[in-house]
Order: sequence, then C-alpha cells, then structure tokens
Amino acid sequence: MDYEQFFAGKIDELENEGRYRIFADLERQAGAFPSALNYRDGVTREITVWCSNDYMGMGQHPETLAAMHEAINRCGAGAGGTRNISGTNHYHVLLEQELADLHRKPAALIFGSGYTANMTALSTFGALLPGCVIVSDENNHNSMIEGIRHSRAEKKIFKHNDVEDLDRFLSNVDPKLPKLVAFESVYSMDGDISPVSEICDVADKHNAMTFLDEVHAVGMYGARGGGVAERDGVADRVTVIQGTLGKAFGVVGGYIVGSSAMCDFIRSYGAGFIFSTSMPPAVAAAARASVRYLKEHNELRERHQERAATLKRRLSEAGLPVMPSVSHVVPVLVGNPRLCKLASDELLFKHDIYVQPINYPTVERGTERLRFTPTPLHTDAHMDHLITSITEVWDRLGLKAAA
Ligand SMILES: *Cc1c(COP(=O)(O)O)cnc(C)c1O
Repeated sequence: MDYEQFFAGKIDELENEGRYRIFADLERQAGAFPSALNYRDGVTREITVWCSNDYMGMGQHPETLAAMHEAINRCGAGAGGTRNISGTNHYHVLLEQELADLHRKPAALIFGSGYTANMTALSTFGALLPGCVIVSDENNHNSMIEGIRHSRAEKKIFKHNDVEDLDRFLSNVDPKLPKLVAFESVYSMDGDISPVSEICDVADKHNAMTFLDEVHAVGMYGARGGGVAERDGVADRVTVIQGTLGKAFGVVGGYIVGSSAMCDFIRSYGAGFIFSTSMPPAVAAAARASVRYLKEHNELRERHQERAATLKRRLSEAGLPVMPSVSHVVPVLVGNPRLCKLASDELLFKHDIYVQPINYPTVERGTERLRFTPTPLHTDAHMDHLITSITEVWDRLGLKAAA
C-alpha cells in the first residue's frame, strides 16, 4: 500500500466536497477581546472574533489571569504526575470543591478536557454496570457517542429532545437491567435546550440514571452559572452533570459532579482519569477563579442574553436567515458547504470579521451555517460593523435571505 497516496487521497475527498478545514491562525490579545490578530499570507491583521466559545470573555478576565500567574509562581508549570502518583495538587482539590458547590452536589471529579470527562465516565458506566442499556439523544456530541461505543454497552438512540420516544425505548428494556439516559442541555449548533425536567420524569419512571452534558450552559445559565439544571431547579434530580472549564469558564479541562460514591467509582475505575497526567495547577487555579467569579456575577449572564437577543433581532431585521435558537447561540443558515466557506472567507478577508463555517459532519448536510456567539464584550459598534458587512456579503454571493 502507498500510505502517502492514501492520506492525500482522503484529503482530496474533503476538498472536493468543499469541507476541507483551514484553521484561522490567531493571536488572542489579553484585555482586547473580542479583538485578535490574524496571521494570513504573511500579513497580520486585527480582526473581531464572532465564533469563540470563550462565551463570557473569562479567558482574559483579570481575576482568571491573576489566579493563573499566582499559581505558576507558587507551583511551576506542570502537575508532575497522574492524580494517584504525586499529581494531586492542592489547587485540584480546591477546584473540585468549587465545582461540587457550583452544582450543589456532594462531589466532583476533574479531567483534562470535557471530551475526556464524557468519554471516560460513559465508557466506565457502560462497561461496568452489568447489562447496562444506554439511551442516547440523536444529537449528542461526539465525546458521548465515543464513550458509549467504547463501553460496548447496548445503545438505543432516541429522537432529539423527544420524551415520548425516550419513554418508548425505556419501556422496552427489561426493568431489572440498569439504564442510563445521556443527553445535553444546550445543543451548541442549533442553540435549542432540552426539557431536562421532563427527561428526568421519564428516567425516574424507569429507574434510569441521567447523564447531562451542560458544556454549553455552565457559567451561562442558572443564578450562579450552574447551568440549565440550576435554572430549571432540577439539578438534584440529575445523577451526573458533566461540564467543561474550557468554554464559558475560559480555561481548559472537564468535570463531572454527582454523589460521592459515583465520583469515587469513576475516580477508581475510569481509565481516562487514572492513566493521564493531571492538569497544570495554574490551570486549576484559573478555572476555580473563573467559576467563583461567574457564580457571583449574574449581571454578566444577563448582558450575555441581551447581546444574543439583540444580535438575533438585528440579523432578522436585515433579512438574514437566522435559525431559531432559544439560547446564546446565533446560527445563520447558508445550506451549502462551499458557499458557507466562501461567506466566511469574504467576511474575514474583506471585513476583518471572523466566523468559522460549520459544515458536515458537525451539522447535517444542507444545513451548513455560520454560527455566531456574541459575548458580553461585543458592543453595539461591533454589531453595526457585522450587520453592514454580512449584508454586503449576502448580496454579493447571492445567498438565501430569510424565508
Ligand atoms: C466542546 C464539547 C465537549 C468537549 O469539551 P472540551 O472541554 O472542549 O473537551 C463536550 N460536549 C459538548 C456538547 C461540547 O460541545
């Protein structure tokens, strides 16, 4: 076999479909968010980022940075080991306490990323609960899908946010078998939100565990940033809440919270937890500072929601096809991978606006889109510039207007 030819051929396939990915080469500017530098073809330009998952700008917040600096000065760069072998730093312990408190759960466990948290927890539940059946929302994130697959447990996929379909699947499982319902709160590409309380009702009826990915909700929903489960007053009904420290909290890392026995079980059996070096102490310190800050600053969440609502309204008024979203995510439909990439390129090259095209397999074919994530730091002036520029690009490329 000619390996090189094989690799190049697979890349050609992507290019032919118009979905070969090109990364924007950015240099974030601490204190200037959402501005950043973009390195392209030997030139450097200042651009406005409109698609960051640093949803609240906490990745550059002075309190996050101060905590990180202080911890680096005290502890150095790396953790020095896995959690079991010399790698549990006091900052990890403090962060886990902070996260348990955020969700008002007895215990928390941190991982290198949200991806690893999902992958490890789900694969461990599915592999060790005897005869476990996992019932999974069809729109679940790849990290959950891979965790479930890796567990080798029986898997059923219910229709997106459809509690009746979920009920039907659970009714068909032997009542004696353990069952786990895996779902998300905010689905990040469409911006819709699941009926957490109703899903818990159905799960309770069948004595199933619930596993809720709140990656796109923690820090942003609920009076203290505990996510949609907090907002809806149902956090105590969810068996496992999973979150990230890399999106609204602006740093990196993932976690689960729940009962002490459950967290101890994953801590003791989860391979992706046991066999991986723990996060740098400074990362834990920065994440903890960010979680604490967002707990106490609900006005940032209010501003965030106001900015998202304003952007949706302004795009609609300009006749652009904003997709329905009840969250902070603002998707604008293009419906073709090449045009989606072209629109994104024009915005970046001609207008210094950066919004990444979202193509298959992240979303269904035919629903290719630009996904805007306005933050509390996007001003009216940023929006003025965006609306003028995107209207121009839509006209120039002859893209579809709102239906
Ligand atoms: C980003 C994401 C993850 C993974 O979290 P990371 O901390 O980025 O690894 C998990 N679930 C969902 C729904 C996500 O969008």
